[in-house]
Amino acid sequence: MKILVINCGSSSLKYQLFDMDREQVLAKGLVERIGIEGSRIKHTKTGQDAVVTETAIPDHKEGIRLVIEALLDKSHGALSSLGELTAVGHRVVHAGEKFAASVRIDAKVMAALKECVPLAPLHNPANIMGIEAVTEALPNVPQVGVFDTAFHQTMPESAFIYGVPYGYYEKYGVRRYGFHGTSHYYVSKRAAEILGRPIEKLKIVTCHLGNGSSVTAVREGKSVDTSMGFTPLAGVLMGTRCGDIDPALVAFIAETEKLSVKEVDSMLNKKGGILGISGVSSDLRDIEEAAKRGEPRSKLALQVLSYGIKKYIGAYAAAMGGLDAVVFTAGVGENSSTVRAMTCEGLEFLGIELDRSKNDIRGKEAVISTDTSKVKILVVPTDEELVIARDTKRLTPGP
Ligand code: ADP
Repeated sequence: MKILVINCGSSSLKYQLFDMDREQVLAKGLVERIGIEGSRIKHTKTGQDAVVTETAIPDHKEGIRLVIEALLDKSHGALSSLGELTAVGHRVVHAGEKFAASVRIDAKVMAALKECVPLAPLHNPANIMGIEAVTEALPNVPQVGVFDTAFHQTMPESAFIYGVPYGYYEKYGVRRYGFHGTSHYYVSKRAAEILGRPIEKLKIVTCHLGNGSSVTAVREGKSVDTSMGFTPLAGVLMGTRCGDIDPALVAFIAETEKLSVKEVDSMLNKKGGILGISGVSSDLRDIEEAAKRGEPRSKLALQVLSYGIKKYIGAYAAAMGGLDAVVFTAGVGENSSTVRAMTCEGLEFLGIELDRSKNDIRGKEAVISTDTSKVKILVVPTDEELVIARDTKRLTPGP
């Protein structure tokens, strides 16, 4: 069974073709700069060099057409005919309170996703365009939507209601939703498997630290709290997003700097975070190098980042009434032994003991706590595409 997984952004489109009988990636690629000059498709068949084609890609429809063409190519493709493709799974950012699990896409689901556009104005329109482009190109192929918000729908009201007039929740759906759900689900489940313990018996804090970052409390396999909120701006410090701040700052900066609310929002999303504090870069590799050279604000950015994650671990241990494992994932979590070490330092009182030599790894599954550590610390590379492919398989009738 072959399944195509698509992650559509506003100007990019990532894809992976899976053979789901063996859970293997047959080919993957990236369509970049859709609707912008310099657009291109980079396609890689597993085991071969990448093939880059620069060509005009005015919209997602053309992007999908090029993906299909690449997948059918005689030399670097991975499908002999379109009939081989059983289904397409899409990453969709926001499903509001409408879906707590993945679903087969039909007209009703599309209408629901459109209703969620005000909740995710930057993401859902691109996801919808991707689904529509596939519907047009492959009208008979079933499609499945897998939502970033779905895993967090198990949060109790006490964790998702904000201290604003309740009517805003009723009228506009103002509440904590949380994101990266597919990743938190995957790494918590994988951590339980690695530890050889049933997830129903575990209290896990998962730290997805990438350009965007979020920390989640997973109790008995269910999300009970998460650091991102109504939008992905809340929580720990990110590449360019500020994370948690005093909301009064929005009015203060707008008035003082004579900026509109929209401009302040854009600043907090694009000019804050690690970039904002360091003044150097949003990329953690640059910050680690600058900190090594003694750059004080890069050192500070690392401290603010790890201090913030540390506080969430403590808060979520309290929320769950205990802690069995801490999991690090995504670009920073999988690769930065520095951030992992700075985060875990001082948490020995909670039973969290990092083994410094085991921590000296990147990009692979590992238990990095000491043998005697009460709380296990793990690195688990995330695989959101595999979760999407599995859900798509599960929701698609077999051939
Ligand atoms: P996204 O949220 O865009 O999916 P990723 O999960 O790919 O992001 O994470 C990107 C981040 O991972 C960047 O800030 C990058 O600096 C960081 N990163 C990648 N490799 C390393 C590394 N070897 N050491 C430290 N940080 C790394």
